[in-house]
Amino acid sequence: MDQDCIFCKIVSGEIPSDKVYEDEEILCFRDLEPQAPVHVLIVPKLHLASIEEVTESLEHKELLGHLMSKVRVIAEMLGLTNGYRLVCNCGHDGMQTVRHLHFHLLGGREMGWPPG
Ligand code: AMP
Repeated sequence: MDQDCIFCKIVSGEIPSDKVYEDEEILCFRDLEPQAPVHVLIVPKLHLASIEEVTESLEHKELLGHLMSKVRVIAEMLGLTNGYRLVCNCGHDGMQTVRHLHFHLLGGREMGWPPG
């Protein structure tokens, strides 16, 4: 846990969140400022500042594989039967604002492309 990380505090329960899904490895909660009718964040409980910190270690491969395998499950729970978008912002140019790896799952409307 990173003491200064807002998502670590959400994982520990120190900061409340609107939880959608939780297991031993990951947490999914609703975004505070939704950009679509459905907008949740899926985070590993392990603190990794961004996708740039993911290595080829077995631990990271299993964690990220697990997280990815739950996207479909969470989308189904949220009723996203017509598709959705999964976004991972990274670093300055990716406009990442929270330095704890997270994936935005957005749906409930047709998305635009290209993104801004
Ligand atoms: P990013 O810009 O990709 O780093 O995304 C960070 C996201 O976290 C933004 O969409 C914020 O609205 C969201 N966010 C920040 N603080 C909270 C919080 N306490 N609970 C839920 N979502 C949050």
